[in-house]
Amino acid sequence: MFRKPLAGLRRGLEKTRDGMFGRVRELVTRKARLDATTLDEIEDILIGSDMGTDAAAQITDGVRRRLHGTSISAEEIEPVSQAIREEVLALLGGAPVMAAERLRGTPHVILVVGVNGTGKTTSVGKLAWMYQSMGKKVILGAADTYRAAATEQLAIWAERIGATLVRQKHGADPAAVAFDTVQAARARDADVALIDTAGRLHTKTNLMQELSKIRRAVQKVDAESPHETLLVLDANTGQNGLAQAREFMAAVQVTGLFLAKLDGTAKGGIVLAIRKALDVPVQFVGVGEGLEDIEEFDPESFAQALVERR
Ligand code: GDP
Ligand code: GDP
Ligand code: MG
Repeated sequence: MFRKPLAGLRRGLEKTRDGMFGRVRELVTRKARLDATTLDEIEDILIGSDMGTDAAAQITDGVRRRLHGTSISAEEIEPVSQAIREEVLALLGGAPVMAAERLRGTPHVILVVGVNGTGKTTSVGKLAWMYQSMGKKVILGAADTYRAAATEQLAIWAERIGATLVRQKHGADPAAVAFDTVQAARARDADVALIDTAGRLHTKTNLMQELSKIRRAVQKVDAESPHETLLVLDANTGQNGLAQAREFMAAVQVTGLFLAKLDGTAKGGIVLAIRKALDVPVQFVGVGEGLEDIEEFDPESFAQALVERR
């Protein structure tokens, strides 16, 4: 495995944790017992982290089952936070298949898609950094030919990481860039080809069709590719992110989610809403603007980072 994700998740979940547990702590200082009213108030606080009513109800039920009627105080918040941690973990499920274990193509082709401004290009740079750190040879494809700045942005990351960038002129066919990228990756014996794409609104049918065209282009080089299609969601967009995900999933085979900007939001509970509502796993989270601000998502570390005291 590339590294234990706890440190970055701690940082990334700081606002969510402070928002949620700050309020839970404040609540229990006013109460002597974990009674029905207190449990309802905890449920409201959980809903405030954007985890959705289903997840909040499920977690609160678990806390009720474990601790209803027990005495509480600010000093004894530990049993409450541990109960929440266990319920979060139960909801998120077991150990995921990590990025290194998912690698299978030669090259392994990863297509990165999403709405404008969610963090795609930054996330491609982070992924490149992560795979290079694992000792993999990476090639980047600048298939966002729509925004000239996107290619420049990616060129800077590529240079810093020491990865090759495949690019064409502004306005070129993104499918052609994707095709060239996979071909170049094969010719140079790269392990991973990462393809950045232009942002598109999930409601625009013609742009969603363009993604299918990009897929067909890389399939000409390798029928099994793209091996992964990552949808980048901005953690700040909350429930709208779920709508975006549904549309992208209907148009292209999304294999995983990259939840960017987790560090900027107190609504990190969205991870649980996603788990409840969608049939696709969160595989990476973005926890800052730097290249190294990426963590592989792992339920155990997430649950731990969500509740722990600093
Ligand atoms: P794109 O339009 O989807 O390619 O998005 P960009 O990669 O250009 O990112 C848009 C903005 O979000 C930039 O200012 C990035 O620095 C910022 N950003 C991306 N990922 C993260 C993250 O994980 N945390 C924070 N705080 N900012 C991020
Ligand atoms: P269509 O031509 O739009 O019906 O779609 P195709 O599935 O035939 O190809 C999709 C896109 O992939 C094309 O528009 C090209 O941009 C790209 N493509 C396909 N074959 C090649 C190729 O041999 N070289 C390059 N550079 N791009 C290709
Ligand atoms: Mg971009």
